[in-house]
Amino acid sequence: MSALPEWGSVLAIVAHPDDESFGLGAVLSAFADSGARVHVLCFTRGEASTLHAVTGDLATLRADELRSAAAQLGIVDVRLLAFPDGGLAGIDHGVLLADALAYAEEVEPDGLIAFDPSGVTGHPDHRAATAVAAQVSTMRAVGMLGWTVPDSVARALNSECGSSFSGHAPGDIDITLTVDRTHQRAAVDCHPSQAVPGSVLWRRLDLLGQHEHLRWLHHAREEGPS
Ligand SMILES: [Zn+2]
Repeated sequence: MSALPEWGSVLAIVAHPDDESFGLGAVLSAFADSGARVHVLCFTRGEASTLHAVTGDLATLRADELRSAAAQLGIVDVRLLAFPDGGLAGIDHGVLLADALAYAEEVEPDGLIAFDPSGVTGHPDHRAATAVAAQVSTMRAVGMLGWTVPDSVARALNSECGSSFSGHAPGDIDITLTVDRTHQRAAVDCHPSQAVPGSVLWRRLDLLGQHEHLRWLHHAREEGPS
């Protein structure tokens, strides 16, 4: 498959400000360009980042960066929560789920998108956010896509940059999307505290080129492969 599902309302659930841009940016802007109303729930303010390229309080800076980036991506609404960055996996799952379900009730998504259950970059917060998203999609009986990278890209990044990416083999990837990264790059530019020169982000975007890769993690009866 090479096309996104025809969802009118999309809910992205992520852990950190910048995940919506660095990770999902090209896919979310493609949804927005297709006319979908795209919403983002972000569990933390990213205050624990080791990157701090702009002076100031990271929690405040990154909240502002997220709102600016969302505008570039065509996201209609952001719900930013304040769970501890780096500590999502230690929060009672039911507490995270209650907040996610409440937001889903408001935005009535036709489908969800999140990082792959592996967390993609190896960050445990990503895995925790995706676990919540998976439960929301099951409980609301809507489809869910997981963003991943080809395992060849993960291997290249890990060997070149010492990162801990997890990818998937081509046979396990359901949708390979040709993307225009214009809006994503504008959104990345809204995160100056994190988009530092030489970071693995840039090499990943080079390696991915014009393509993003998605897997069906849950699908509603009428969509996606059976
Ligand atoms: Zn993240």
